[in-house]
Amino acid sequence: MGKRIVIIGAGPCGLGAAHRLEELGHQNYIIYEQNSYVGGLSASFRDSKCYTWDFAVHVLHSHYEYMDRLLKHLLPDGYYKHIRKSWVRLYGCWVPYPFQYNFWHLPQHIREECLGGLEKLGDSPKKSASNFKEWIYDQFGEGIANHFMIPYNRKNWSTDPSQMGANWLGDRVPSVDLQRVKRNMAAGVDDIDWGPNALFMFPKNGGTGRIFNAIAKEIPPDKIRLKSQIVVLNLQSKELTLSDGSVEHFDVLISSTPLNLLCRMCNEQRLSQMTDQLRFSHTYVSCLGLERSIPKEMSDKTWIYCPADDACFYRITPFSLFSSSHTPSPEMCSFMCETSRPGEDVMLNADSFDRDTLSGISHLFPCLGLDEAESSNKNKEQIHHYSMCAEYGYPVPTINRDAIVHEVLNDLLAHGVYSRGRFGAWKYEAGNMDHSFMQGVEAADHIIYGTEEITWRYPGKVNNGLLKVLGK
Ligand SMILES: Cc1cc2nc3c(=O)[nH]c(=O)nc-3n(C[C@H](O)[C@H](O)[C@H](O)COP(=O)(O)OP(=O)(O)OC[C@H]3O[C@@H](n4cnc5c(N)ncnc54)[C@H](O)[C@@H]3O)c2cc1C
Repeated sequence: MGKRIVIIGAGPCGLGAAHRLEELGHQNYIIYEQNSYVGGLSASFRDSKCYTWDFAVHVLHSHYEYMDRLLKHLLPDGYYKHIRKSWVRLYGCWVPYPFQYNFWHLPQHIREECLGGLEKLGDSPKKSASNFKEWIYDQFGEGIANHFMIPYNRKNWSTDPSQMGANWLGDRVPSVDLQRVKRNMAAGVDDIDWGPNALFMFPKNGGTGRIFNAIAKEIPPDKIRLKSQIVVLNLQSKELTLSDGSVEHFDVLISSTPLNLLCRMCNEQRLSQMTDQLRFSHTYVSCLGLERSIPKEMSDKTWIYCPADDACFYRITPFSLFSSSHTPSPEMCSFMCETSRPGEDVMLNADSFDRDTLSGISHLFPCLGLDEAESSNKNKEQIHHYSMCAEYGYPVPTINRDAIVHEVLNDLLAHGVYSRGRFGAWKYEAGNMDHSFMQGVEAADHIIYGTEEITWRYPGKVNNGLLKVLGK
């Protein structure tokens, strides 16, 4: 039978572990999932009006040959290939992303502040920043920092960038070439050629969650127990207690529950004290379905960053553009808006953001004709709302995060516990769907073969494409 492996969570990480164990012929495992569905944060939902929603936009950008191969055979009706066209909505203007190469779209005095800040930086070598805020000012200068980078990041993370580290960025934030900025300004051209996700795949039907449903379908049904929540972990006796009081023994545990909750579950004061210092944000997703086609102004945009205080959300995604199957009819359009709140705040009802979201949309996107004051009852009836929230949305890379996470994860490993995935390893830079799935795969490989886990330990290597080259 081999070791008894218990997996907490049927999100991408838990499913990755199970998929790999099946592939390796290791049958002695089980997944416990508290929800009634698989996919975790990467699940999709079809609501009563036949709209399909992701939990905010989920773009798959695989860094792994292993995952590329799997994705190809999973969905019979396949994927669309979309070109990323992200934009920033600021001061009533549209600025293509990356902001730093395209701020020439903004009013002249702001343009001058942004360019002046960059010029002031000069060619002097960048010093190593001690936090994210310093890094932003060092890389982009005052204008870009004050108008975009600082407000956007504060809104997105619900954390002041001065509390965040500067070592997690890798390929995620493009740095600036001053000559290129000047050339763009002089010629008035949009410069959008940057970084990962330029072209991305999206399931033709059923949203992102369809991928994880398909992976789950390849796992024997008796190996996934839905509506089963783990509430206690005893590290000494290697036992887990479920909310219904039943007990499950394990030799090895792979957990994708948030690391701080896992430490509380095992009642180890030292571990809890450490992980209680980890920061996270709540994410609220307000979705809007409209019985009209998408206005031309928004029809060429995959998602739009909204850094300013004039809307509660930090990003809006016209989700109907990803697939016409996301709306009840192709003549309709749909949008998802993400709002972030600090993890220490009390959780609110998801729909409490709908009104603020609507007024933010009316203000930022008059082309949608949603101005609340003017909308008649008839118009209101044509607006369909759907709301979702996640207590754990973003794991914040604070300055002390790595020291805490590495010590706790190594301690747990000594007890046969692999805490992995977006919140299990608490590494945002290794916390996308592909990373989380592969953290599960790599944990399974480590358990069976003793091979090194790369993703959570060395996210930089993964994000720089090294694993693709190695053909993992
Ligand atoms: C707003 C937002 C946008 C995102 N956009 C993208 C994107 O564009 N591209 C991308 O690649 N990724 C994106 N992600 C990240 C993606 O959602 C995660 O990478 C992925 O879902 C993490 O997988 P996981 O298995 O580690 O965790 P989760 O998805 O959180 O799954 C964990 C599972 O464990 C279960 N669980 C937890 N505790 C217990 C317990 N005690 N007992 C039983 N079950 C338990 C949960 O119910 C859940 O199903 C986004 C995330 C958010 C929040």
